[in-house]
Amino acid sequence: MPTLPRRKEDVPTNDVYWHKAQAENKMLNKTYDVVVLGGGPAGLAAAIAIRCKTQASVLVVERQAPGEERLGESCPPETILLLKKLGVAKRFYQAGHETCPGYASVWGRADAGYNDFIVNPLGPSWRLNRKIFDQMLVDRAIECGAQVSWSTRFLDAFQGNDKALTHHLILTAVEDQSPHDKKTIEVQTSFVVDATGFKAHFARTLNIRKEMDDQLFAIVRFADVAAGEGVKQIQLEAVPEGWFYHAQIPGGRVVSMIATEKPSIYQLKRDQFRPFEKAIEKTSFIGPNIRKLSLKEHSYHTCPIHSGYLRKVEDQNWIAIGDAALSFDPIAAQGIYKGLSHGLLAADKVAASFNKEETRFPSFTDQIDRQYEVYQRNRAHVYSLERRWLNSDFWSARNDRINAVVGEA
Ligand SMILES: Cc1cc2nc3c(=O)[nH]c(=O)nc-3n(C[C@H](O)[C@H](O)[C@H](O)COP(=O)(O)OP(=O)(O)OC[C@H]3O[C@@H](n4cnc5c(N)ncnc54)[C@H](O)[C@@H]3O)c2cc1C
Repeated sequence: MPTLPRRKEDVPTNDVYWHKAQAENKMLNKTYDVVVLGGGPAGLAAAIAIRCKTQASVLVVERQAPGEERLGESCPPETILLLKKLGVAKRFYQAGHETCPGYASVWGRADAGYNDFIVNPLGPSWRLNRKIFDQMLVDRAIECGAQVSWSTRFLDAFQGNDKALTHHLILTAVEDQSPHDKKTIEVQTSFVVDATGFKAHFARTLNIRKEMDDQLFAIVRFADVAAGEGVKQIQLEAVPEGWFYHAQIPGGRVVSMIATEKPSIYQLKRDQFRPFEKAIEKTSFIGPNIRKLSLKEHSYHTCPIHSGYLRKVEDQNWIAIGDAALSFDPIAAQGIYKGLSHGLLAADKVAASFNKEETRFPSFTDQIDRQYEVYQRNRAHVYSLERRWLNSDFWSARNDRINAVVGEA
């Protein structure tokens, strides 16, 4: 895919705003060696690992304000190996995240099956307190010398005509959203890490497409447990319209979710999510556990779930990582692990280019291709285990679409 440089004149910047933004963002420089777009697990891991391996100056640009709620709390046992490499394993163990003995699922049959982590030499899987986990990564990135610019949105990019192919990145403060008077600042960099999540905002400015092979929608509910004792396992339950997920999370909270097709989402959201509450309470396995709990302070999130990959994930002076490169169905519970591992791989690429080291093989592109193939096969296997409602919209679509993709491979 050609990556034509865009002309600087195409994107207006504003010098007055630049000075205001500098004051608010604790003095952004005009130039950084590396700019990481997105401060999720992938972006922060990349910032930490790049600073550990190189002397490069690193700016992380994050649209959200610090401490906002993020989705995803379940991590496989192997996550600890990545946290060691990032220098945060000790802090992680001390931070009060909870272990999870395994999964209990009603999937493909009416009674529950159990999948325990007891035999895994790396220990149990984890249920994260996301706020503490995210803050741990931010603290580590700053301690390693990266700068984080919160509430700052990446808008656009163009390449200079210099030999080094410098990127010119156009940023704006999130609160400054007036469409007619959007004031911007420009930051220049030799290397961009696109860690902006599944929309891959930077890659889009290069006209690189995302290939999607499935799309679901989720309703996620967080709630505080006012009274009652839940079960420690993560619970999964297939229903004709999709599947439910329920887990206790640290801080006396629970998270409950349905993954389903778009039309069901409209129906479940009505009347302040009452149909969602009724549907989960009616399930045969998760329902009785939820009814034992008294829940308060509900908060709901509705979001699309994309399975797909970016057609091109790297070039000489940029790389796309985490969900920007590959996004998975949460049935895989791999998103955070994938983000952290891509962050480490991005640092290898940056170090190779800044320290003039040999590039490692297999290339990041090859690893991504392989990872997506494995994911597609595993996803097809998991969905093929449920054959009770092959006439329902959800299960027939999963079986047709997903198996077709694997059949083509
Ligand atoms: C409902 C649901 C449940 C999930 N549950 C789990 C789970 O239990 N376990 C698990 O491992 N994974 C789970 N996932 C997947 C997981 O959340 C993602 O895979 C993971 O967060 C990807 O990390 P990332 O850093 O690549 O992207 P993200 O976490 O999406 O981070 C991208 C960041 O970029 C920022 N950003 C975006 N655009 C811009 C811009 N233009 N300018 C500046 N910043 C920008 C965003 O604000 C965001 O902070 C779940 C996903 C969903 C949808």
